[in-house]
Amino acid sequence: MARGKVYLVGAGPGDPELMTLKARRLLEQADVVLFDRLLDPRMMDTVRGEKIDVGKNAGRHKLSQEGINQLLIEKAGAGAMVVRLKGGDPYLFGRGGEEALALLEKGIPFEIVPGVTSSIAAPALAGIPVTHRGVASSLTIVTGHEEPGKEAPLDWKALAGLSGTLVVLMGVSRLKQNAAALMAAGKPADTPAAMVEKGGWKDQRMISATLGSIAEKARASKIESPAILVVGEV
Ligand code: SAH
Repeated sequence: MARGKVYLVGAGPGDPELMTLKARRLLEQADVVLFDRLLDPRMMDTVRGEKIDVGKNAGRHKLSQEGINQLLIEKAGAGAMVVRLKGGDPYLFGRGGEEALALLEKGIPFEIVPGVTSSIAAPALAGIPVTHRGVASSLTIVTGHEEPGKEAPLDWKALAGLSGTLVVLMGVSRLKQNAAALMAAGKPADTPAAMVEKGGWKDQRMISATLGSIAEKARASKIESPAILVVGEV
C-alpha cells in the first residue's frame, strides 16, 4: 500500500515540451495514468504503467466526473501510484479541485503538480502578452461556458468595467452570446479581441478582430475548441 497516492498533474497547453520536469518524471514512474483525450499522445511516450483515457468531448462524457473520482480512489486505494494528467493547470477550470476533495474525503494521499495554463500560454504563443506595462495591468480569467445553476453567474457589468485583459476559456460555443453580453454591459464594440485555437499545438491558429466582429470572424474561420478568447488592448 506504500505507493498508494494520486498526483494531480498539469500537462500544459499541449506541446509536450511545455510539461514540467516533475510531470515528466511522475509519468515515467506511475503505475496508472488517467488522461484526457485532448492531450498530445507524445506526452504519454514514456509511460510504462497502465493508460486510461477518461477524456471528454464537449457534452459527450466518456467517464463521468464521479466515475473519474471513483477510479482515482480505487486505484490509489489498492496501492497504485496514480497520475491524473490534466490539460494546462489542474486547478483552473479543470475540475482538479473536485478530484482533490474526493480524495481528501476518502483519506487518499494526493499531491498537486501545477502546470502551464493555456489561459496565459495560448495568448503568449500567439504573440499576445496578457499584461503589458502601460497597456494592461490586470488579467481576468473566466469561463465562457457556464453550466446553468452549477456555477456562480458571471458579472458581465463588472467584467466590462475592467480596463485590463479578459481571457475567456471554453469560449467557442457561446462566443456570440458572450461578446454580446460584454457589449451590452458597456464594453466598446471596437475593443480589440482575438481567438487563439490550439495554442502550442502544431496547427495553432489565431484570428484577431474587434469585440463587435470576433464572433462572425470566428464562425467564418471555423474556430473550434480548444480555443480561448482574449479581449483587451494587449
Ligand atoms: N486547466 C486548463 C483549462 C481547462 S478548461 C488550463 O489551465 O489551461 C478547457 C479550456 O481551456 C478550453 O475550452 C480552451 O478554452 C482552453 N484551452 C486548453 N488548452 C488550450 C490550447 N492549447 N489552446 C487554446 N485554448 C486552450
